[in-house]
Amino acid sequence: MLSMQHQHLKLVIFLKEILKKNFFFLIFYAIIFLVKKMILGCHVNFTNEQLFGSVKQAVKYGANAFMFYTGAPQNTIRKELDLDLVKKAHNLMKEHKIAIENVICHAPYIVNLANNKEEEKWQFSIQFLKQELKRCKILGIKYIVVHPGSAVGIEREIALQNISDALNFIIEEDAPMILLETMAGKGTECGCTLEEIKMILDNVHSKNIGVCLDTCHLHDAGYIISNFETLLKKVDILFGIDKVHCVHLNDSKNECGSHKDRHENIGYGAIGYEALYQIVLNEQLKNVPKILETPYVDKLYPPYKFEIESIKNGKFNSNLIEDIMNFYK
Ligand SMILES: [Zn+2]
Repeated sequence: MLSMQHQHLKLVIFLKEILKKNFFFLIFYAIIFLVKKMILGCHVNFTNEQLFGSVKQAVKYGANAFMFYTGAPQNTIRKELDLDLVKKAHNLMKEHKIAIENVICHAPYIVNLANNKEEEKWQFSIQFLKQELKRCKILGIKYIVVHPGSAVGIEREIALQNISDALNFIIEEDAPMILLETMAGKGTECGCTLEEIKMILDNVHSKNIGVCLDTCHLHDAGYIISNFETLLKKVDILFGIDKVHCVHLNDSKNECGSHKDRHENIGYGAIGYEALYQIVLNEQLKNVPKILETPYVDKLYPPYKFEIESIKNGKFNSNLIEDIMNFYK
C-alpha cells in the first residue's frame, strides 16, 4: 500500500515537472501511457510450430494479445500438441510481455450447440468442445470463444435451452472459461441479441462462463457501436460488464441491422475508425483484449501490423491498403 502511494506521489511530481517545462511533453507522455495500456492483437495462425508459431506471428504484428484456432476454423481435425513448443511459446510470450490472459482460443465454426435434432451431431459438438478445453489447458490458455450455434429448423427458445444444456455438460470449474460470442443473426444464428446471451447464461449452472463482444456482429445485429456507452450499460444491466473477457474489434461491410456478418478493415466500413478507437480506449474494458479479425488484402496479405499501428497512433490510415500491398509485395 505504502509503495503504491509512493509511486503515485512520484508520478504527480514527475507530471508537475513536465508541466513546468512543456505542456506538449505532458500530452506526449499521456499518449505513451494510453498506448501502453492498450491490449490489442489479432487472429494468428496455428500451424506446424503450433502456439510457438502463433506467438511469433503476433510479435511480428506488434500485438500484445492474440487469438488462434487449434487447427482449421472450418473443421475439427486436430493434431496432437507438442509440449516442447508449448514451453517455447510461453517463454517467447514472457519475453514480449504478452500476458496469458490476453491469449484467446476460438472453437471451430461447425460446432453447433443449438440444434439437437440429430442427437449424434449435437453430442459430437459437446465432446469436441470438451476435448478443446483439454487442449487449451495443456496450452495454458484461460479463455475459449464459442459461437452459440444456429437453430436450423427448431424453435428458437428450445435452441437457446439446448445451448445452455450443452454448456452444462461441457463446463468444468477448473477448466478454461468458455466465452459466448455475440452473433450477427445470419440465418438462424442464436445469441444475436444481448437478451439471448443473457437467456443462455441464466440457464448455465456454473459461473465459469463469460462473453465475447464482436463489434461487427453487434452492428450487423442492429446495435449502434458509436453509442458504445449505452450498449455497455445494457450489457451491465443484463449480465454484467465483468463477464466480458474478449472484444472482437472489426469494422463491418454492411449497414447496421443487416444481419450479414462480413468483416471489414478498421475504418473502411460502416462502423468507422473513431467508434472502434473509442472502444480500445474505453476505461471499463481496459483490461479486456481487443482482437482484430479483419480481412486480408486480396485474400493474401494480413492487415494486422498496419491496423495495430494505426490504432496505437490514434490516427486512421487512409493509405492502409497501399501500405499493406507495398510491405508484402
Ligand atoms: Zn467468432
